[in-house]
Amino acid sequence: MELISIIIPTYNEEDNIQLIYESVKWEFDRLAYHFEMIFIDDASTDNTLQQIKQLVSKSTNVRYISFSRNFGKESAMLAGLQHVQGEAVIIMDADLQHPPSLIPDLVKGWEDGYDQVIARRNRSGEKPIRKFLSSAYYRIINKVVDVKLEDGVGDFRLLSRRAVHAVLSLDEGARFSKGLFSWIGMAQKIVDYENVPRKNGKTKWSLLKLLNYGLDGVVSFNNRPLRICFYTGALILLLSIIYSIIIFVQILLNGIKVPGYFTIITAVLILGGIQLLSLGVIGEYIGRIYYETKKRPQYLIQETNIRNGENYERNR
Ligand code: UDP
Ligand code: MG
Repeated sequence: MELISIIIPTYNEEDNIQLIYESVKWEFDRLAYHFEMIFIDDASTDNTLQQIKQLVSKSTNVRYISFSRNFGKESAMLAGLQHVQGEAVIIMDADLQHPPSLIPDLVKGWEDGYDQVIARRNRSGEKPIRKFLSSAYYRIINKVVDVKLEDGVGDFRLLSRRAVHAVLSLDEGARFSKGLFSWIGMAQKIVDYENVPRKNGKTKWSLLKLLNYGLDGVVSFNNRPLRICFYTGALILLLSIIYSIIIFVQILLNGIKVPGYFTIITAVLILGGIQLLSLGVIGEYIGRIYYETKKRPQYLIQETNIRNGENYERNR
């Protein structure tokens, strides 16, 4: 029997650990595969790690890595991918928002030869404002980035060994997995599911965090935002030249009449705004270069029950 690995990033999920393990186990009892579950504890401040250890003492197929501090879900997923052994890997959230009942469908897709079987949720039961913002975001981002990002598609998916290799070969520091998964391509299949509310605990996403994540998505994949700044600048320059010529001609014909407060103030404000925005965009890229050149590790392991887990060779 082949092995399938389940990666679960956890941050303050004490009430979900047992639950997610049981539900996944229930599914695998009905499948012709072994599974291992690997928890990446992102330095939880509650009893998550104790819960995981308790599970480890009872089950032989549970492994864990705990981080030295909170490094974020992206780093947790990376650590998971670097340490799993399965022929196929499934990434899931701990809060049961990624229904384990979908596992058979994901596995089926993999058996049919797909390298990525992607779970896609609808947004039923979500706040209208969040629905609106996300759909607007995806409409804009797909115009800006090269990879295709889809609404409702997140990290919940099955990756074949080949796909895991491909993802791990992307050595960048600031990781935006949604985009990386899309970037590697390969044979992909989508499986739809109904959105479900989180089981226990609360979400770790504030509006600000979401905005930052969204910005990461835009800047991680190409330099089109820089282009946009360039073209906006060029357009404004052109308009200004035309406008100056018009005024100049008017002055020649009629002499100077109007003081022009409105013109000056709008020109100053709009230009100032665009300049700041452009500087911000440039700054984003420079900031990224700064972080990438430091080549710091993506995470530090505090504790693990994986043998040689500390020798995370791929984690530069
Ligand atoms: N998570 C993590 N590190 C963090 C924040 C979240 O590992 O810093 C995990 C969390 O435990 C959960 C998953 O990432 O398993 C998704 O988080 P959450 O449910 O808060 O996000 P949402 O479903 O609201 O988008
Ligand atoms: Mg959740």
